[in-house]
Amino acid sequence: MQVADRIERVNESIVNFYLVEEAGRVTVVDAGMPGNWGLLVDGLARIGRTIADIETVVLTHAHADHVGLAERIRSAAPCEARIHQADLEYLLAGKRPAGGIDRGASMWLLRTALYGLRKRGTTMPPVATASTFAHGDVLDVPGSPRVIHAPGHTPGACALLFEERGALMTGDTLNTLDVVRGKTGPRISPFWSDRALAVASLARLDGLPARIVLPGHGEPFAGTPSEAVALARAAEKPGRAPD
Ligand SMILES: [Zn+2]
Repeated sequence: MQVADRIERVNESIVNFYLVEEAGRVTVVDAGMPGNWGLLVDGLARIGRTIADIETVVLTHAHADHVGLAERIRSAAPCEARIHQADLEYLLAGKRPAGGIDRGASMWLLRTALYGLRKRGTTMPPVATASTFAHGDVLDVPGSPRVIHAPGHTPGACALLFEERGALMTGDTLNTLDVVRGKTGPRISPFWSDRALAVASLARLDGLPARIVLPGHGEPFAGTPSEAVALARAAEKPGRAPD
């Protein structure tokens, strides 16, 4: 569905990715799981576009459920894949950055794992080549997003600010669904490379000019990044592990 000016959300189960259209060309933000090709093609069809209209695939970070289709898109369009320099080695190797997971597994973890198995999201197809970006870069691609490096979920985890469209895509720097415990509302991801850094990096999102927050997992948050960050911070319980 359309979630902002010329921004289409492509969603199934825990997977979100976004199509940003400008003058008939498309930026794909994140690339789901390997089994999500039909979902992508259907999403493009909804906005009257095809794979050949994709100009670039911009990846918020190198996790299997965000880069699953990246290599296939890159070679089929064909187009360039882009990622923050700190996650490049993982993308090229098809290797997950080291890290941990919050305690408190529930039936949701099973649901997430089953969907991942069905869509082959447990392995990360390596991307043959990608260009990199850094904090503050404005990418010369449809939608002209500004890169906000907010590490912690992964070393190179980024949000993308589409200022003209009033939209902030947060990847997994801020989610509205905890895919392990099923909790909803703005929060950091239960997966991380450095949990304390992920919480500290919320400051990078605070104050950004947008009217809607589009996360890597969960529903759009119809508010400002500052409102989302305040709720994500409130969801943290200082001094102890979360529920
Ligand atoms: Zn992730």
